[in-house]
Amino acid sequence: MNPDADSSSAPTQLVLASGNAKKITEMRALLMPLGLEIIPQAHLGVLESEEPHPTFVENALTKARHAARATGLPAIADDSGLCVPALGGAPGVHSARYAGEPRSDARNNAQLIAHISQLAETQRHAWYYCCLVLVHHADDPCPLIAQGQWHGILLTAPRGNGGFGYDPLFWLPELEQSAAELDPEFKNAISHRGLAMRHLFECLRSRGLKAED
Ligand code: IMP
Repeated sequence: MNPDADSSSAPTQLVLASGNAKKITEMRALLMPLGLEIIPQAHLGVLESEEPHPTFVENALTKARHAARATGLPAIADDSGLCVPALGGAPGVHSARYAGEPRSDARNNAQLIAHISQLAETQRHAWYYCCLVLVHHADDPCPLIAQGQWHGILLTAPRGNGGFGYDPLFWLPELEQSAAELDPEFKNAISHRGLAMRHLFECLRSRGLKAED
């Protein structure tokens, strides 16, 4: 992915800076067009980094740098979450640990239901946000940064068994399905993560780097 490198030295591997198995599955499918070997950081013995920042973009950059520094390889990170305006933007960057440690989607969803169940449907608008950061090396001064948003309405009872995280509570009125009821390929086609990945590929192309989709 280095525009100045000849094909013999172009990287063939990309480290995925996430420890979330379901997110890794979605990202692997989305990254397929790059034709690179996608290696989850845990396969190289890399532990998850801290996510100490108040913004998704800072956390994504921290995660990508951490993985690149530990492996010496290019790395991509996703920092994402659910934002509910009626809750002041919560759970936001704390989405993975909304109900505390250890991380649990079931407990996070129960906590969210407790916070929104008294709200009228018009107050239950929410969006998923995804920030993707790709660094060619740990000190890359020009990280690729892309983002995507996906809007829905929160349900007060879960529906569907697919996806992960808050998907059983994320209702898509125009589809009359929750995100957890979508076919995984379709979710990737319309989700915050899918949109961010398309923007990332556009960034790669605009720098003259390969990104077929
Ligand atoms: P991260 O791994 O620190 O970026 O945390 C992401 C958290 O945001 C996940 O653990 C979920 O709670 C939530 N999240 C992000 N993307 C999705 C999605 O596509 N579906 C459901 N929940 C998501």
